[in-house]
Amino acid sequence: MGLSIAEELSAKYKRVLLLEKNDGCGQETSSRNSEVIHAGIYYPHGFLKASLCTEGNRLLYDPCGKRNISHKRTGKLIVAVNDAKCERLEKIKMHAEGNGVFDLTLLGKKQALTLEPEVSAKAAIYSPSTGIIDSHSLMRSFSINAEKNGAVVALRSKVTAIRAKDGIDELETNGGEYRFHTRVVINSAGLYSDSIAAMAGIDIERHGYRLKYCKGNYFSTSPAPKLNHLFYPVPPENTESLGIHATLDLGNRIKFGPDSQYVDEIEYSIDGRRRESFYQSIQNYLPGIKPEHLHTEMCGIRPKLQGPGEAYRDFIIKDESDTGYPGLINLIGIESPPD
Ligand SMILES: Cc1cc2nc3c(=O)[nH]c(=O)nc-3n(C[C@H](O)[C@H](O)[C@H](O)COP(=O)(O)OP(=O)(O)OC[C@H]3O[C@@H](n4cnc5c(N)ncnc54)[C@H](O)[C@@H]3O)c2cc1C
Repeated sequence: MGLSIAEELSAKYKRVLLLEKNDGCGQETSSRNSEVIHAGIYYPHGFLKASLCTEGNRLLYDPCGKRNISHKRTGKLIVAVNDAKCERLEKIKMHAEGNGVFDLTLLGKKQALTLEPEVSAKAAIYSPSTGIIDSHSLMRSFSINAEKNGAVVALRSKVTAIRAKDGIDELETNGGEYRFHTRVVINSAGLYSDSIAAMAGIDIERHGYRLKYCKGNYFSTSPAPKLNHLFYPVPPENTESLGIHATLDLGNRIKFGPDSQYVDEIEYSIDGRRRESFYQSIQNYLPGIKPEHLHTEMCGIRPKLQGPGEAYRDFIIKDESDTGYPGLINLIGIESPPD
């Protein structure tokens, strides 16, 4: 996120500085995800999550071609395995249309099986604008263009203090190694964006900025079924979860997930005991899979604004002038679009 902002701003402004605490950019949530270009199907209407997702989908494919970033418009199937789930497909399609997604098609069993012969399906939705992308190349391209425009990308530069005096004034890195004056800070620190807001002086409890961590685990499978599309079950009702789904990468490898596991700290181990719940979900639509075929793969952590069972929250993208911090723009809760 920070890299794309740096590219955009450096085309218009001199003296753009991107501070990254790690040895390289994009080593956290941006490299621990499904790399799916989502269509914007499920989000609640009127949410930034919905409008930015559909707009992002439209804006992303074209530059990928121009910038030579590997990507593939795989399409996605949302599959119903019983009559109750079949009824939900029509509702999902209508909901997506409310978000401006008009390219979904309802498929009968025969059509679904023609697209995905190894899957058990009674009916499905086909989303042609869902795809996958090499997110590392995308990030590299943002970084190269930002630097070409004159921005400085400073690695191993952890923001450790922000001082405000009639607005944002001074920023400190690495516990005082550098201090410099700045008029604007754009906080896109992902899982740490609530701490950065607190550093500036914002009461993150009162403003509802405190992040909760929700791990998404993935399992790979060997032997692997042959799938041609991203593949999702009809999601369980009244939850945020999309159900355990199958995503492909650009090498056509399949991984299942992510699931949802709220955790107290940021650490990236995977509990192998989750294999059983993955298997229970997957075997509904891929009956050929056996528990012993599933292997722990990777995980990422969503910086969520809502805890388990709490009301759904939108992204926070906010100029904090009215909070008393002119010059501070917070991006908080930029989590996985569950779509
Ligand atoms: C399991 C999972 C699956 C997902 N699947 C998809 C998907 O298929 N499609 C999709 O579009 N999105 C997906 N997402 C969401 C997507 O990954 C995130 O929206 C995106 O990566 C957020 O990027 P970011 O730049 O906000 O955060 P990050 O990538 O976490 O970047 C924040 C950066 O800030 C740096 N930083 C933090 N604190 C400091 C500090 N004090 N000083 C300096 N630097 C600091 C960090 O080191 C990091 O590099 C998924 C997320 C998860 C967890």
